[in-house]
Amino acid sequence: MQPCPKPEPKSKERAREKRHEAAVIKAVRAHVSARDGYCRARMVGTCDGRDEWAHLEDKRRARTVGMAPEERHTANDSLMLCTRHHDDYDEGRLAIFKHSPMGAEGHLAFYSYRLRRFYTETSSGVVQMTLSEIRAVAALILHGALENEL
Ligand SMILES: [Zn+2]
Repeated sequence: MQPCPKPEPKSKERAREKRHEAAVIKAVRAHVSARDGYCRARMVGTCDGRDEWAHLEDKRRARTVGMAPEERHTANDSLMLCTRHHDDYDEGRLAIFKHSPMGAEGHLAFYSYRLRRFYTETSSGVVQMTLSEIRAVAALILHGALENEL
C-alpha cells in the first residue's frame, strides 16, 4: 500500500492559483486589447489617459471575489476603455449596454449622461441618437408601430 501523499502547503497552492489567474488575465486582456484597440467608447466625446481593462456589470471586481479566473475574466464581459471613459463608467456618467449574450464580443451601446447622447454599434458603424430621437423611437414602440419589427 502506498503511503498517503503529504498535502501541498497552503502557500504553494495559493501561489499556483495566482500564477494561473495571471495567465488567464494576460490571455483575455491581450484578446480584448486586439479587439477594441485603445478605447471601445472612443465615439463618446473625447478620450484621455491610458488604455485600461474594464469589467462590465456583474464582473466588476468587488462582485467577483472567490469566482474562478475563467469566469471572472471573460472577453464577453470586459472591454478596453481610456482612463476618462473608465472613470465615467465607474462613476455612473456612462452606461454600457450589451445587445446580446455575446456581450462585448458583439455590438455594445453607450449612453453618456454628460452629453445626453446614445451611441450604438451596428454592423455598418456607430449610430448616434439624441434624447429627442430616442423619445421618437420610444413613442413608436409604445404605440405598437414596431410590433412586427421587434
Ligand atoms: Zn475613451
